[in-house]
Amino acid sequence: MSAPALRTWGRGDRVVVTGGAGFVGSWLCDRLVADGVRVWCVDSLITGSRANVAGLEGDPLFTFVEADVCDGLDVPGPLDLIMHLASPASPLHYLREPLATLQAGSRGTTQALDLAARTGARFLLASTSEVYGDPLVHPQPETYWGNVNPIGPRSVYDEAKRFSEALTAAYRREGLVDTVIARIFNTFGPRMALDDGRVVPAFVTQALSGDPLTVAGDGSQTRSLCFVEDTVEGLLRLAGSEGSGPVNIGSDLETTICELAALVLDLTGSASSLVHVELPEDDPRLRRPDLARAHTLLGWSPRTPVREGLERTVRWIADELGLAAVIPAQPA
Ligand code: NAD
Ligand code: UDP
Repeated sequence: MSAPALRTWGRGDRVVVTGGAGFVGSWLCDRLVADGVRVWCVDSLITGSRANVAGLEGDPLFTFVEADVCDGLDVPGPLDLIMHLASPASPLHYLREPLATLQAGSRGTTQALDLAARTGARFLLASTSEVYGDPLVHPQPETYWGNVNPIGPRSVYDEAKRFSEALTAAYRREGLVDTVIARIFNTFGPRMALDDGRVVPAFVTQALSGDPLTVAGDGSQTRSLCFVEDTVEGLLRLAGSEGSGPVNIGSDLETTICELAALVLDLTGSASSLVHVELPEDDPRLRRPDLARAHTLLGWSPRTPVREGLERTVRWIADELGLAAVIPAQPA
């Protein structure tokens, strides 16, 4: 696919990544520093970990700032780009921290936009497929307004992100900041917190430990899983575009949760059984992005096959658990 002309980020650029010590943020920081960008990673560590950016510590291009974005952001300008990812993201985390999640989306996003306004930076909001809620349109194009229960337990995340989008769009309309919104779909890979309850780390950890895989409901609900390197490439291309979005970033290869469980058992060689647990309230039945806009505007689509991404994730989780020896060799 021929890529449209996009700005790239490299030597001389100054970029802030909020939530940079989290799963996706740390991969972004790695990529930006590798490309020669001066990076400030701002993170409160509420769900992230310093270990995720340990490989960057000491690099003159990298500064870690431990701070809650709700308390204001103090990074010296001028800045070229702010990538605003700071927010709890896994259902387990945001249900445990409902108020902090709403604050991150409201006060935190305000602070990040104000920093962009002060420093002249372009601003990318890491929004989410959760703005579509339990979608009534499938697959989900960016023009779909969503089906969100505004007072259900998941609303602390969904509505925080919807508010973040509204705020971002208003700063743009008011001529205050050059903004763009990414709607990220389920992303997986090494550095997901093993205990964050999301389906990939949960299934892989259970399979490697010989525990039953906890399939929610009958497991017929679907997700479309994108490997983190591909998501990072999509986010950087979107930041380098002139568009304002929203643009879906994710994979459009849809899988049921039961199919995912079978794949994880295959890759780990595990004899774990499946146990069906209660479906969480308002758990979306189906999820798959319409990627037409990302193809056209960014010349982007994910490249890593799910199986390959899962193999890399299994190897990383096995290392973390000290269980690398139990994984069967994969055919070349
Ligand atoms: P994560 O929990 O690993 O990372 C989030 C990071 O933000 C953590 O390091 C956390 O400590 C930090 N953080 C949270 N609140 C903060 C605050 N108030 N101040 C400073 N730091 C704060 O989650 P992730 O999967 O890496 O998600 C990153 C972003 O991408 C989130 O905004 C999330 O909504 C979005 N997203 C992720 C996915 C996905 O599948 N991973 C899908 C859709 C959207
Ligand atoms: N899920 C599951 N078992 C688990 C964790 C999650 O079956 O141990 C299901 C969950 O109910 C949802 C899907 O897997 O239907 C994806 O869940 P995840 O928390 O990873 O992401 P999200 O619901 O935010 O898409």
